[in-house]
Amino acid sequence: MATEPGNRCPICLDSWDDAAYVMPCVHRFCYRCILRWAETKPECPLCKRRVQSIVHSVRADDDFEEVVIGPSGLAPASAEKHVGGRPDMKTQSGSL
Ligand SMILES: [Zn+2]
Ligand SMILES: [Zn+2]
Repeated sequence: MATEPGNRCPICLDSWDDAAYVMPCVHRFCYRCILRWAETKPECPLCKRRVQSIVHSVRADDDFEEVVIGPSGLAPASAEKHVGGRPDMKTQSGSL
């Protein structure tokens, strides 16, 4: 009934744990949610704009933490894993 939009994280649909703001569009998500999102896709889930940084732990206008997101995302330490693909698979031909 009186659900206030904007009081829930659009990613986990839960209330804020640790609110974070995406720059420059200033959309709001949980810090953990948007951080995980930005690791795979550095764009805002709401407006699809490029995420330049994530501001969180805001205590005052000049007292906050900021995580800068590079052009290719957060670039987690683990390299990309290619799952699937079977190099040993035999190609059968000539059955037609
Ligand atoms: Zn969330
Ligand atoms: Zn946005």
